[in-house]
Amino acid sequence: MKADSLNGKKEQQANTQGRQNMNHCIIENCTKPIKAKDLCAMHHQRLLRHGDPSIVRPRRVKQVTNCKWIKCTQLSKTKGFCAKHYYIQRTLSPEKD
Ligand SMILES: [Zn+2]
Ligand SMILES: [Zn+2]
Repeated sequence: MKADSLNGKKEQQANTQGRQNMNHCIIENCTKPIKAKDLCAMHHQRLLRHGDPSIVRPRRVKQVTNCKWIKCTQLSKTKGFCAKHYYIQRTLSPEKD
């Protein structure tokens, strides 16, 4: 009989509590592989830093702002500027090295 092996499989499935997160981070919507304590590298970092891996993102929805450039209606991408104006601004500003 091969019932033994079947039962073995069933028990393993029961241990996962119906969730398919065997080798994945336990945080919802996170599909990254586990690094430590059932968490992926990123969420494990959060756990170490904040003591809570679920503190992933601030409550506020990501704010969309316009480019700081005068009269520009593009959405800001980098440091408050749209891609084009960020490039211009960077070129103009004296960032000495
Ligand atoms: Zn994760
Ligand atoms: Zn702009």
